[in-house]
Amino acid sequence: MNLKISIAHLYPRLLNLYGDRGNIITLLKRCEWRGIETEFKEINTGDSICGHDLYFIGGGQDKQQIDVAAELFKQKCNLTEQRDAGAVFLGICGGYQLLGHYYQPFEGDRLNGISLLDAYTVAGKKRFIGNVTAKTDFLTPETLVGFENHSGLTYLQGDTKPLAMVLTGNGNNGTDQTEGARYKNVFGTYLHGSLLPKNPHFADYLIELALEKRYGEKIKLEKLDDELELQTHDSLINKAY
Ligand code: GLN
Repeated sequence: MNLKISIAHLYPRLLNLYGDRGNIITLLKRCEWRGIETEFKEINTGDSICGHDLYFIGGGQDKQQIDVAAELFKQKCNLTEQRDAGAVFLGICGGYQLLGHYYQPFEGDRLNGISLLDAYTVAGKKRFIGNVTAKTDFLTPETLVGFENHSGLTYLQGDTKPLAMVLTGNGNNGTDQTEGARYKNVFGTYLHGSLLPKNPHFADYLIELALEKRYGEKIKLEKLDDELELQTHDSLINKAY
């Protein structure tokens, strides 16, 4: 069977901090290396948003989040339908914050999120900057590594569960040891880096979910030679700075 997935990068001209585009490159390459066809679309202000299997939104400064929040909110019902149809979402930091109910910056008005995650974020006085190692309960290896740079403190509610538990670093809020979030196939994380090049196992997990959404059945990806990626991953485990 010739496999295909469609991938949308949401508002990359506004939210693409710390090389978050590297996550898109990783997803496209790991599909290409397996002969999986990809349809890729950059979604910018005013573009239609529906019909993709996987959506990515990167991080950004408070100012860029204001513009994106307004645009995302217009698409809220469409994206909720996409979520409930099984589409995969990955939001990094500022993009992650907007997948929740709201982001309250330290100064200025509250930004409405699109509530794909039952979570909310309020900016704290301290900026969390440094490497993060966190432990999942669904990946092999269990760890995720990356770096964080945020003042937002995110709190999870209801059926929205942590993506992982912090081993090194701060994660969602520096107090409850949670890092990131998951509800259905919506994932958020504070891990920049970019995240997926050094967490290939998570990249493949997301691709498999996107394939399952498109074809209605679990499709196990063939293994790739990830020796270099996993050496990089392992070199960062529990490395604070
Ligand atoms: N502006 C948000 C914060 O400071 C998100 C920053 C980011 O995307 N790195 O928490």
